[in-house]
Amino acid sequence: MCNAPARRASGKAHFHRSGGFLNRGPLGQMTTPASLLDADVPRPVLDVIARLRELGHAAYLVGGCVRDTLRGFHPKDFDVATSALPEEVQRAFRKVIPTGIQHGTVTVLSGGTHVEVTTFRSESEYHDGRRPSAVTFEQDIVKDLSRRDFTINAMAWNPLGHELVDPFGGQDDLKARVVRCVGSAIERFSEDGLRPLRAVRFAAVLDFTLDSGTQAAIPATLPVFRKVAHERVREEFVKLLLSKREAFGLELLAVTGLLDVFLPELARAEAEAARLARAAASAAPADVEIRLAALLADLVDSQRAEEIGVRLKFPTKTIERVRLLITHAALERHVGEPDPALRRLLSKVGLAHIEALTAVARARIQVREPARLPEMEALIGRLHALAAAKPPLTSKDLALNGGAIMATLGVGPSPIVGDATRFLLEQVLEEPSLNAAEKLKELLRSWSRARGS
Ligand code: ATP
Ligand code: MG
Repeated sequence: MCNAPARRASGKAHFHRSGGFLNRGPLGQMTTPASLLDADVPRPVLDVIARLRELGHAAYLVGGCVRDTLRGFHPKDFDVATSALPEEVQRAFRKVIPTGIQHGTVTVLSGGTHVEVTTFRSESEYHDGRRPSAVTFEQDIVKDLSRRDFTINAMAWNPLGHELVDPFGGQDDLKARVVRCVGSAIERFSEDGLRPLRAVRFAAVLDFTLDSGTQAAIPATLPVFRKVAHERVREEFVKLLLSKREAFGLELLAVTGLLDVFLPELARAEAEAARLARAAASAAPADVEIRLAALLADLVDSQRAEEIGVRLKFPTKTIERVRLLITHAALERHVGEPDPALRRLLSKVGLAHIEALTAVARARIQVREPARLPEMEALIGRLHALAAAKPPLTSKDLALNGGAIMATLGVGPSPIVGDATRFLLEQVLEEPSLNAAEKLKELLRSWSRARGS
C-alpha cells in the first residue's frame, strides 16, 4: 500500500491521520507542497533511492529531512528508509559500512558522500524506558513511521515518485506549529523516556508549541525520563540550549518537571534568579560553553558548575572552559582597574578564552544591569587593546627561559626557579617594557639578594 502512486487521475492520494488513504476529488485537491517538489536532494541520495527502487524495494526520505524541507529549510542530512533488509542493502551497493546493522542501519558510500539507509522497523517491548528490547524489520513504511516520536518527524517522501506519506497529520501539525506525539503520548513517553525532552527540544528549535495532550503526559512519565542515560539527555539539552527559543525551552523544561531531573540547580532557583539566568543564556551567542556559562554563572559557583558538567557527561574540555568562564564571569568588578590588573586578568584567563569571557559578561550585564553596559563595553575595549599590544602574559613569554634563570641565579633545577619565574612574570605584567633579558637578569639578582638577606 505504501508504494501506491500518489498521482491519480482524479487527484492525489494521501494518507490521513487514521492511517488510510484520503482521496480528494478535483475540488478538494491536496497538492504536494512546492517545497518538496523543489527540494534540493543531493544527487548521491537520489541515486541510492533509485537503486533500491530499481531492485523492487520501497525507499523514502524520512524524518528530519522531510520535516525541514516542508518548512522551507535545507536539511542538514538526508536519511533514507527502505523495505530492503540490511543484507539486501549491503548487496545493492559496492561500498557500504554496517554502521548500526543490528538496528538495520547501513551507511552507503555514494558519490563521495555517506548516505544512511535504515530498514523499515518497528520497535516493541521497551523494558527499561530506554531501548527497545526487540527490533522487527518491516515491509510497510507506515509501520516504520508509527514508531517515530512526533507527527512532524513521521513523514516519508519519495523524491522520485513525488509521493508524500503522512499518516499522522504531520503536515497539519507543521502548519499549526505543534509538536505532537504519534499515538498516545503517555505510551510513547513510557516506551522511551528521552522523548519528552525531545518534544521540548523540538519546540524550542522550531519555535513551535507542545500539543496540550503531549505536554500533559510529561509529568506522569518523569520516572521513565529519570532512567535515561545522561549522555542522551545532554545531547538534547545542548540542542535546546543552542536553539533560538532557548529561554522558552528552558521554561518549558521547568514547568513540565523535566529540568528538575537533570538540572535542579536551575529548576529550584528562585523565580527571578532563574528568569535572569535564562535571559542571560539567550542573550549570549549560540555556543555551548558560552551559553552554559551565562546560564550558570550567577546561580552556582565554579565548583558546582564542574559537578553539573560531570553529571551530564560533558567533555572535559567543555567542563574546564565553563569553569573558567564562570570563575571570571563577573567582569564588571574590573571596571576602572589599572592596566596591570587587567593584564593579570588576561594572564589568568588566557587570550584563547577572552572572546568567550567577554561574550558571557556582556550577556549577563545586558539582562542584569543594562545601565552598566557602556562601562562594560569600555572595559572590553580596553582588554582587547591590551591584548592587541601582545604583552608577555605567561612564563613562556618571558625574555628569560628556565635555563637562563638558573644561570643568573647560579642554581640547578629547584623550587626557587618556579618562585623566580612567578616573580618575573609579576614584574612584566606590571610593566611589559621590562621584558628584556638584561633587565630581567638585573631584577632577578636584586630579588635573590633581598631573599638571601
Ligand atoms: P535533527 O535535525 O535535530 O537531527 P531529526 O528529526 O533528524 O532532527 P534525529 O534525532 O536525528 O532528529 O532523529 C531522526 C529521526 O528518527 C526523527 O525525525 C524521528 O523520526 C526518529 N527518532 C529519533 N529519535 C527517536 C526517539 N527517541 N523515538 C522515536 N523516534 C525517534
Ligand atoms: Mg537528524
